[in-house]
This record gives sequence, structure tokens and C-alpha cells, in this order.
Amino acid sequence: MSSFSYTARPCRVLFGAGTLAKLPSELFRQNLKAALVLSTPFQQPEALAVTQQLGTVAVGIFSEATMHTPLPVTERGIQEARLKRADCVISIGGGSTTGLGKAISIRTGLPHISIPTTYAGSEMTPHLGETVDGIKTTRSDPAIQPATVLYDVNLTMSLPGEMSATSGINAIAHAVEALYAPDTNPIIRLMALEGVRVLAESLPLVATDESNAEVRYQALYGAWLCGTCLGSTTMSLHHKLCHVIGGSFNMPHAETHTILLPHTIAYNIPSMPEVNADLAGVLPCADGNSITGLNNLLEKLGVRRALQSYGLKEGDIEKAAMIAVKNPYANPRPVEKEKIQELLRRAWAGEAARADM
Ligand code: NAD
Repeated sequence: MSSFSYTARPCRVLFGAGTLAKLPSELFRQNLKAALVLSTPFQQPEALAVTQQLGTVAVGIFSEATMHTPLPVTERGIQEARLKRADCVISIGGGSTTGLGKAISIRTGLPHISIPTTYAGSEMTPHLGETVDGIKTTRSDPAIQPATVLYDVNLTMSLPGEMSATSGINAIAHAVEALYAPDTNPIIRLMALEGVRVLAESLPLVATDESNAEVRYQALYGAWLCGTCLGSTTMSLHHKLCHVIGGSFNMPHAETHTILLPHTIAYNIPSMPEVNADLAGVLPCADGNSITGLNNLLEKLGVRRALQSYGLKEGDIEKAAMIAVKNPYANPRPVEKEKIQELLRRAWAGEAARADM
């Protein structure tokens, strides 16, 4: 075994079903007395339920969280926190709401308690993607990561089957790239493979029976592990392509991850045979090939496979490939424009991934 470094990121995690009931004692434990609760407009009822549970310890709700964390929304949230004299923010929702909590917390110093309700994994990372004047930038700072995360399986029961599937594949993508990251290590490898394993087993069951609490438990546990991988390593080609397609062409986040992942793995496979074997061991395949495993998993989930089905134009492919190769992330295989263009064409057309590039 070669030498490695591993930085554990301090974070208190409460995990289980019904964990939300522990929120008041958690605030008491941290001597927090004035919480501003954040959500999307859609999840305002969940935010309201939290304020009712907290009583006078909740000072208000700010329900404007939206995709890509636009700065004006963050500024209004900060204003609200100041007006209400909040001493902490509680985000309840998916990656968009967690992002708003991070954006407010890093600017104000207010502690951020995150209550994730999807499998996106943002709550476990020190990364923050924000949009300023229509341009999305990402920054990282250990202080961005929420210090407390409360995972309550019950809050994920309402996540529709298709969203659960794409959100779970988004989580798997974090773990996959952590396996070949330049700063990967044996600890992260353990979490990554376990995260992929439990998600690959549980997601098809979630997709067929959204009300199965036991498999939801497994999926959320897997998402936690995969989020930790994203927060601990440097991401490569897959995340770069998703940022380009999502940021420059306004494609939906988890769905883009889902469509691209088998293709980006197929691109990198020739440069990482050992990762291919590891991944194949935790994906549904009999041929020892992780591409087959991922194709099989996506088929079982019944998710859309073509970027064009979400509105990407064929003419956007070359532009996307050009942006992607301009400042490439570290990647096991050199990133070549023509090949990336072909990768994107296949993903645009909805072809099954294959390792012939
Ligand atoms: P999202 O947070 O945008 O949520 C999508 C919709 O689903 C919202 O309307 C939300 O209210 C609703 N929703 C959430 N949970 C629900 C539930 N349990 N039941 C019913 N509806 C529910 O989607 P997402 O995929 O979780 O997050 C995507 C965003 O997160 C992107 O902007 C992405 O860039 C960011 N992200 C950031 C990181 C990071 O480390 N910084 C990691 C992953 C994702």
C-alpha cells in the first residue's frame, strides 16, 4: 500500500427515521435560540412544520431557495436573517436549499444546520456553486460545510420515484469520481464502494415502491457516503461536463449527471482497469464491466437517457465540448475535444454507453 493523506471534515451527523424530532434538543445543545428556516417555495409546508416544532426558537421562514444559488436570493435571505435577528439558519430541502444555507452562512458566520431531503450530497461538502449576473462559479472553503447534518429518512419519502433515481445517480457519480481522483485514498475508497453498492441495490426498489421506508433508509445512507466522497476529493471529467452542460445550457442537474455518467466512465475505463473492476463488483453486471453495470442500473430505473429529451440542441454539442476542454479538471485519461464531442453526441442521442472511444 502506498502512502496517502486523508483529511476528516468535522461534522456532526444525526441519521435515522424520525430524526427531525431531535432538532429542538440539537439547537438547545448548541445554545441556538433564533433559527431562520430555509426552503424552496415548493417545500414551504415542510419549513412551516419545522417552525411549528421549534416554537419561539424559530424566528421565521425564507422560502426562496432556487437552483444555482443566485446572489440576489442570498442577499434577500441575509436581510431576512438580520431583520429577524437569527442566530442560525436551518436548510430543509435538496441541494438548492442546502446551497442557500451555505451561501448565507459563509457570508454571515451564522451556524448552518442542514436537513437534506434528496440524495444530492451537498450537505457533506465544503463547495458552493453560486450564480452572479448569470455566471455560475464554484468556490470551496471548509467553513462552507454545514457543521450539523440531520438526515431524516421520513423526509425523503415524498421524493418522487424518477427524482429519487436521478438524485441517487448524482450521488453515485460523486463516489465514482472519488475512486480515481488524484487525491483519493483507501478510506474514501471504502466509502465510495459502499455508497455505490447500497444505492445500486436500493434505487431500483425505491423506483418501484416509493413508500418502502427500509430501502429509502439504504438510499439516504448511500447518499451520505457518496456526498462525503465529493467533499473529500477532487472531481474529474464527469463533474466538469455536468457543470458545463448544466451551467452553460441550463440543463437539469441530477438528470444530466444520470445521462452522462455511463459515458464518462466509458471514456475513462481504458486508463483505470482496477477502478473498473472495483465498480463492477458493486453494480448489477455479470461481465466484470462497470459500463454494463451502469447501463443495466439505468435501464432498471427507467430513467431518460438522452440529453435531447431535456432540450439540448445538437448544435450545442461542439460548443459544450470546446468549453469542457478549455480548463479541464484533472482526469485519468487526457481530455481530447473530438472524443468528448463524440461522448456528448452519444449522450445527446440517448445511446447506451460503450467503451470504444
Ligand atoms: P433541488 O434541491 O433543486 O430540488 C429540486 C426540487 O425538488 C425542489 O423543488 C425541491 O423543493 C424538491 N424536493 C426536494 N426534496 C424533496 C422531497 N423529499 N420531496 C418532494 N420534493 C422535494 O435538487 P437537488 O438535485 O437536490 O439539488 C440540485 C442543486 O444542488 C444544483 O444546483 C447543484 O449544483 C447543487 N449541488 C451542490 C453540491 C455541492 O457540493 N455544492 C452537490 C450536489 C448538488
